[in-house]
Amino acid sequence: MDCDILVVGAGIHGAAVAHAAARRGYRVHVIEQFGRPAEGTSSRSSKLIHGGLRYLETGQLRLVRECLHAQRALLRERPSLVQLTPFYLPVYTHTTRPAWKIAFGLWLYRLLGGQRFRRIPASEWHDLDGLDSHDLRAVFRYFDAQTDDRALTEAVLADAQALGASVAFNTRLERAECTATRCRVRCHGPAGAEEFTAICVVNAAGPWVNLVLECMTPHLAPLDIELVQGTHIVVPGRLKRGIYYLEAPQDRRAVFVMPWRGHTLIGTTETPYRGDPADVQPLPSEQFYLLAVYNHYFNSQLEPTDILASFAGLRVLPAGKGRAFTRPRDTVLHCDDAMPRVVSIYGGKLTSHAHTAVQVMKMLEPILKRD
Ligand SMILES: Cc1cc2nc3c(=O)[nH]c(=O)nc-3n(C[C@H](O)[C@H](O)[C@H](O)COP(=O)(O)OP(=O)(O)OC[C@H]3O[C@@H](n4cnc5c(N)ncnc54)[C@H](O)[C@@H]3O)c2cc1C
Repeated sequence: MDCDILVVGAGIHGAAVAHAAARRGYRVHVIEQFGRPAEGTSSRSSKLIHGGLRYLETGQLRLVRECLHAQRALLRERPSLVQLTPFYLPVYTHTTRPAWKIAFGLWLYRLLGGQRFRRIPASEWHDLDGLDSHDLRAVFRYFDAQTDDRALTEAVLADAQALGASVAFNTRLERAECTATRCRVRCHGPAGAEEFTAICVVNAAGPWVNLVLECMTPHLAPLDIELVQGTHIVVPGRLKRGIYYLEAPQDRRAVFVMPWRGHTLIGTTETPYRGDPADVQPLPSEQFYLLAVYNHYFNSQLEPTDILASFAGLRVLPAGKGRAFTRPRDTVLHCDDAMPRVVSIYGGKLTSHAHTAVQVMKMLEPILKRD
């Protein structure tokens, strides 16, 4: 089936590009190696639609502003899937950032498009889901949003299909030979091998991004990346106030404790990963780390046997020295000058998927209009 745009991957980025392309009237075909959408990273995220308060500290102001803008649009356009949720940020005597610094960060966050915030009076601390108030100095409440990442991806893909995009599951890209005018694509699906042509190819393969580039001729230079695993655990207990934004006592990283489908979701970790992306699994050490963060901050104590479920996803980060925690989280759209009809999406946020898709279309439209 010949098409204008072949999208490799039915995660949030593949779905969003399919939607943006179909809306502009292009013939778009999505292939997904697994049997349903969002089987990769897009069902293993922290499920937050947020600007990323902590990115202020690393100076990623443009990313924060972009994500907060995207959050407002999603709250408006997908109210059944994206809900504003209170976040509680406690400050203890041992917390790295003092209360004034956090208040300044929240003020800046608000200025960049975030929601209102306030300091919770000490008289209300007893009602914070059993948060330990020993050595507690201040608690801030602000608002960000929560979603169901898989359901969001399915909704975006369904919208793309309603506009004419076609989707093939259990179908894997095997080869794409691109010339000055077209890409000749070979896939393997339920009915065996299939060949067709596409004017452009969007590589939205998430942590498989460089493996997909290896299937392409001519050789397209990949970006140097690292895969960093992030694990979440699900434990019993209903949080009635909202999401807790905590500083892990072990290494000062941010860890969220969130209400999730009648239980509590805790995440995440950052562990370098070097295997096949399909094989990523939560490690016992990561589960202990997350339990220890919870037990440090809450009066109720959890054991490893309390873990109801766990999952791990892979971040695609630029290779570099230092902790993954402080690396840039921008989406990188990579296109080899020698072959502008192939665009690869590296990294990015669930939150800014629609913005990313618009940027991809801006890169491809001169080619689509010419050819
Ligand atoms: C632990 C963690 C927490 C996160 N939390 C948040 C958060 O709270 N908020 C936020 O905004 N962002 C968050 N993110 C980022 C966000 O989840 C990701 O940026 C986003 O889900 C990536 O989507 P994607 O479509 O690029 O990749 P994926 O969802 O991984 O999709 C890629 C798809 O491509 C398919 N594919 C791969 N190779 C082939 C092939 N050869 N042929 C066919 N199909 C193929 C895969 O099967 C997969 O379905 C988080 C990320 C991680 C890892």
